[in-house]
Formats: sequence, structure tokens, C-alpha cells
Amino acid sequence: MKIRAGFVSNSSSSSFTCDVTGKEHDGEYEIDTCFCVNGHRFVSDFRLPELPVQIPVDKMRNRLLGDSKSEKDNLGIQHASDDQIQSWYADYSDESEYEDDDLPPKLCPICSFKFGRTKDLLVYMLKRDGLTEEKLLTEIQKKFGGDYQTFQKVMRPQTNLFKKRIRTNMSI
Ligand SMILES: [Zn+2]
Repeated sequence: MKIRAGFVSNSSSSSFTCDVTGKEHDGEYEIDTCFCVNGHRFVSDFRLPELPVQIPVDKMRNRLLGDSKSEKDNLGIQHASDDQIQSWYADYSDESEYEDDDLPPKLCPICSFKFGRTKDLLVYMLKRDGLTEEKLLTEIQKKFGGDYQTFQKVMRPQTNLFKKRIRTNMSI
């Protein structure tokens, strides 16, 4: 486990497309971004919260000892109660275990399926329903022929739901 003193600001200097919102951000504004181990890149705001670290008190004590600067601190840590150690450790390790450019799937909204990318949802539905893109297109052609405007109109409720999901996914 890596423990470090703070978040590394991982600002982008070139443009990128957020995999969560689909929005393109240009390089003019510095925006903190995250990468997960599966290659998703998104604005840091969408990074999922980490659960408190559950480790035995003895390990906490050893880590505090490992970082202690003086003999006096050492003695204090050695003789402190378990409760005291837990409280000190909470202050000491109040940072992330993970770097913004190497997030595990549990902190990625896409990998953990807290947020569905259209592409992922589509391939899942195709697979589940035994469809192919071709079959789906044939079906759509039959229903809407050359009338793309009607297609848009009929699909509008779904499109709006999707847009709303994008707007509110700060709370995922
Ligand atoms: Zn991911």
C-alpha cells in the first residue's frame, strides 16, 4: 500500500474527452483527470470515494513507528492505547492509497458500473438479446425508413433521460 502526503495534481495540457460525460475538454483550462487501470479517463470529480482502510491496529502501530521521527515519539506510540493508535492513524493516513493515474476498478465509475457508457450498454444489450448491430439497423430501417426526424422524436424521452443522467452523475 502506498501512503502519500496528498493528491498529485494530474492536470491535462492537451484536450481530452471525459469517458463519463462524453464531453470534450480543451487544453486551455487545466482540469484534474483520473485514469483507471482499464484505460478509462475522466474528470477527477467522478472518482468514486474510498472506503476507510480496514487494517489491524498492530499494523497501524508499526506504520506509525516506521514514520516516527524521534525516540520520544517511538515510546509514545509503543505505549499508546489501541484507541489512541486508531485516532492517530486516521489523521496520518487521511490520504488516498491510489494515484490518480492508476485507479483500481473500484474507484472508477465505469469499471464499477455506477455509470454506464452508451457503448458498454449497447454491446451488453446486443449480447443479452442475441442481436447484432446489423439486425438492429435492419429493424430500425423497417420502422423508420428514411425518416430520421421521426426516429429522433420517438427516441427523445430516452435521449433526455440519458442527458439527465449525465447532469446528475456527480452524485453517483
Ligand atoms: Zn475504469
